[in-house]
Amino acid sequence: MPELPEVEIARRLIADQALHRRIVDVDDSDSYVARPHPPGELRSALTGRSLTAAHRRGKTIWLDTSGTGGAAAPAGPELGIHLGMSGRIVVTDADGGVSEGGDPYRYRARPPRAGWNRFALTFADGGSLVLLDPRRLGRVRLNPDIGALGPDAAQVTPAEFRALITKGTIAVKARLLDQSKIAGIGNLLADEILWQAKVSPLAQVNTLSSAQVNRLYRALKAVLESASAKGGAHTGAIIAARHPGGTCPRDGAPMAHGMVGGRSTWWCSREQALR
Ligand SMILES: [Zn+2]
Repeated sequence: MPELPEVEIARRLIADQALHRRIVDVDDSDSYVARPHPPGELRSALTGRSLTAAHRRGKTIWLDTSGTGGAAAPAGPELGIHLGMSGRIVVTDADGGVSEGGDPYRYRARPPRAGWNRFALTFADGGSLVLLDPRRLGRVRLNPDIGALGPDAAQVTPAEFRALITKGTIAVKARLLDQSKIAGIGNLLADEILWQAKVSPLAQVNTLSSAQVNRLYRALKAVLESASAKGGAHTGAIIAARHPGGTCPRDGAPMAHGMVGGRSTWWCSREQALR
């Protein structure tokens, strides 16, 4: 699924290629992806405007829009986009050239189907911006509540991280996935961070030592940097070991598996043993 690095790639694609193009039509007919907006509400809110800036916090993208009547008109609503479990952004230019960003590997095996287009903006130049989403767990809405999200994982400071991570008794893996605490970490990044920091995913956050919290913070930064440089969370060091019989790429110990925070979790049975 798209995590912070993939969503940032999608945001950058929009910022580079979809801004300042006048919107002449909106396909918002998928009322599940566009909930709570009824069909037609996004269309009437956005037609005649342009996207003017692309922002991101965690896994949420939001886009500023222009007024409809030239530079003096007041700005329009923000358009929020969440890629869900399998979403990609596809931007087509005036000449039909296509650029994509988002979920990294779901499409390699099979060509996209028209039915996966869940939302689309058509621009006056003939191009478009489409949310392509096979699993239909993405979401498009006006004025999303960004305040419900914690600080972005790429921006969080060591002091914020310590304060947000260590309160309570929840398993540290579940806390890393809690978007209201720190935004942007999904399942693969969480396992990679815990493995790099040599911390058990099951450790209760109030039992973490100061050294463990410091290692987690450094691992968060290193994992995000590497995943962003390599194109996504699926490029992590333990991805190839996430299967029965998999071994730790650092010490060769068997990988352990369990459900933590409701998600399939893999960790080194030796270095990440719960102590
Ligand atoms: Zn190991």
